[in-house]
Amino acid sequence: MNEIYDVVIIGSGPAGLTAAVYGKRAELKMIVIEKEMASGGQILNTYEVDNYPGLPGINGYDLGMKFREHAEKLGAEFSNDEVLRIEAAEGEFTVVGEERTYVTKSVIIATGAQHRKLSVIGEDELTGMGVSYCATCDGAFFRNKVAAVVGGGDVAIEDAIFLARMCKKVYLIHRRNQLRGAKTLQTQLFNQDNVEIIWDTVVDEIEGGDQVESLTIRNANTDETRKLAVDGVFIAVGINPQSEAFNNLVEMDHGYIKAGEDCETNIPGIFAVGDVRTKQLRQISTAVSDGANAITSVERYLTRLQVN
Ligand SMILES: Cc1cc2nc3c(=O)[nH]c(=O)nc-3n(C[C@H](O)[C@H](O)[C@H](O)COP(=O)(O)OP(=O)(O)OC[C@H]3O[C@@H](n4cnc5c(N)ncnc54)[C@H](O)[C@@H]3O)c2cc1C
Repeated sequence: MNEIYDVVIIGSGPAGLTAAVYGKRAELKMIVIEKEMASGGQILNTYEVDNYPGLPGINGYDLGMKFREHAEKLGAEFSNDEVLRIEAAEGEFTVVGEERTYVTKSVIIATGAQHRKLSVIGEDELTGMGVSYCATCDGAFFRNKVAAVVGGGDVAIEDAIFLARMCKKVYLIHRRNQLRGAKTLQTQLFNQDNVEIIWDTVVDEIEGGDQVESLTIRNANTDETRKLAVDGVFIAVGINPQSEAFNNLVEMDHGYIKAGEDCETNIPGIFAVGDVRTKQLRQISTAVSDGANAITSVERYLTRLQVN
């Protein structure tokens, strides 16, 4: 007979691990399920995190380890397993993993997101060495330097505007001849003196030794290629929320699980935290904030269950 958890946390990035810390302090019967061998989520691949308060310049891997150690120190239980789906029955949920099933009164989904790649030569090799997927996180490293942004949606435009404040020059490289982003953002972008938009153009290769040095770009109409000297390239071609396993269960918006600051989804007892939920800014600080809020919501939900 399976034991019944108060809460099962799916994912052990910053959001899931914070929920684990708060969950243990609230003395909930709980388990954290993580599909990868290491905890920490997206920050594991981040060389330097410079905007998490109190720990300027910390290595992403070290920060992930600190989060996990904190949860373990408080006695959090972990399972290395991949969640495939959640089955809802009256008053309880069965979380179905590849290895085993977990029966629980509530669930916190903390499965995060993955940035889409360009999939060009040099991208993987130079990630963290001038290739970045997050201007808010890494922009400050390119002060007075030359950066390129690849993409044409809201995020790419916002990144270019953000970088224009600190970089000497910013190229926005877009494969079409018009941008997709909001008109108000476009107006702001066109007013930046140090931003040059390179239309109808794709990136074929990212070159460099220890750091990005140049891009090979190609005009999509003429196939003409040329080299563009840059110190960094920000890839803003979209992110994929890791929510497929919950497709037919909770309400979503473009793959993000719909939930507010209390992290409640449309299904009572299921909560969504961190990058996988609908929100304005996807960062470590907002993920940890969700993890804490979700436990308060779980406690309230469990109290309501007891009363009914
Ligand atoms: C390159 C890069 C640099 C960044 N730099 C910064 C920075 O400097 N500062 C900052 O504030 N933010 C930064 N971010 C953003 C930050 O990493 C995210 O906002 C944060 O990690 C979100 O935390 P999360 O817990 O919601 O999700 P994630 O970190 O994505 O963690 C989700 C976890 O869930 C697990 N998981 C997914 N699906 C399943 C499943 N089905 N079963 C079991 N486990 C599952 C994953 O393996 C992962 O461990 C960066 C992001 C990237 C990609």
